[in-house]
Amino acid sequence: MGVPTPPMTPPLTPSQLRQPPPVEIENYVTRTLRNQEVLPPLDRHNWFKEMIWLHVIFIIFTPVVGFWGAYHTKLVWKTGFFSVFYYFFTGLGITAGYHRLWAHRCYNATKPLQYVLALAGAGAVQGSIKWWCRDHRAHHRYTDTDLDPYNAHRGLYWSHVGWIMTKPRTRPGMADVSDLKKSHIVQWQHKYFIPCLLLMGFVLPTIIPWLLWGDLRGGIVYAAILRLVFVHHSTFCVNSLAHWLGEAPFDDKHTPRDHLVTALVTIGEGYHNFHHQFPMDYRNAIKWYQYDPTKWFIWGCKQIGLASHLKVFPANEIRKGQLTMRLKELREIQQDLVWPEGRNELPIVSWAEFQEHSGKAPLILISGFIHDVSDFLNDHPGGRNHLTQYIGQDATSAFFGGIYDHSNAAHNLLAMKRVGVLHGGHPHALDDRFIPPSQKLRIAEYNELVTNIPMDCEQTLLSGDLKRRRNAGHNYE
Ligand SMILES: [Zn+2]
Ligand SMILES: [Zn+2]
Repeated sequence: MGVPTPPMTPPLTPSQLRQPPPVEIENYVTRTLRNQEVLPPLDRHNWFKEMIWLHVIFIIFTPVVGFWGAYHTKLVWKTGFFSVFYYFFTGLGITAGYHRLWAHRCYNATKPLQYVLALAGAGAVQGSIKWWCRDHRAHHRYTDTDLDPYNAHRGLYWSHVGWIMTKPRTRPGMADVSDLKKSHIVQWQHKYFIPCLLLMGFVLPTIIPWLLWGDLRGGIVYAAILRLVFVHHSTFCVNSLAHWLGEAPFDDKHTPRDHLVTALVTIGEGYHNFHHQFPMDYRNAIKWYQYDPTKWFIWGCKQIGLASHLKVFPANEIRKGQLTMRLKELREIQQDLVWPEGRNELPIVSWAEFQEHSGKAPLILISGFIHDVSDFLNDHPGGRNHLTQYIGQDATSAFFGGIYDHSNAAHNLLAMKRVGVLHGGHPHALDDRFIPPSQKLRIAEYNELVTNIPMDCEQTLLSGDLKRRRNAGHNYE
């Protein structure tokens, strides 16, 4: 018969039994996706009927016709300049209008500016303001989930054009567009979107080069079709490239990234990591030298009275995000390094034991720690004798200036040679010389600070706090 063993976990007390089990709060995205019909993934059997063929033809047809036409059409320099101008004009309709004005309400625009932006945006042929902003708000609210219409986790192709050419596998998440429903200009543009699109996307860029310098064919090929291809892919890059290429200087919870290349191809929308953190800010680039023509355009409109109330997120909060990311980086470096053992990890040695062991190995006492310097005797820059004369003795004063005031590097190296703690030999808590300089600014997670502070650090923190309060003139008697 075996020996009975006690249960591994103690039985619950009556008060624990009375407590209801913890309630798992289901994430909104998971719940929404669970309650809706999701289309099956695309495969070789169903892809044909799952494509939105009008979009497919348009997305493929425009670059094919545009580049084929450019190969067979002489580029007149006036048409070339006009096409670039019209690219920026319609592009700003999206970036300064659709995106920063209507989707994010980053500033207020006067009626004339709103009409110009609504018409320019229609010329970019990307749907009406109402439709575009609804999806974009869902993108911000459910970034990187299946409720995000251009979820970057589904790959570069999907976030670039896949989501436009394929029937959405799930419905985009809920987004509040009540403000847009109240906007007369947004409603007007939605109602007359097709005439606006034809006029601004094709008719105007064709007739301007035709009527002003007689280049009808160049107008169609360069200013209308090829310009449209570039505007399309410029915007698509905000959803694909800006969620894939670059750095995350403000937060790395989601995929948005900052990169100059993305900024160059998107009229300044490439500082997307900043944008997702601070979407109401009228800027995407916060440094003066970063490329953000959309910001410059909005600022220019303010100077001539067309825009007002440009929103800027508090610099203090922006810097908190930057600091967090830098601390994260530094912590990774910190975790790659080897650190000395703390007081709680070392054996406690009596004075008699210290003396006894010093006869067998070169042990030196400094700041309450016993160090084995056997591998350093011949490398000591001050010479071997300065070490050997302190074997079995307390060299704290000598190390900290009595003989030589050692460098921080020497102190850090010394700490790596710890082999024990002298019983009763630990210095007063206010004396922080037992902490190597490299550990005085250690980066700790918040839970490490609360639950896992090594005793020696804890004492220093508490004593530091007390010192500060005393210096501030508080009386605790
Ligand atoms: Zn984004
Ligand atoms: Zn946005």
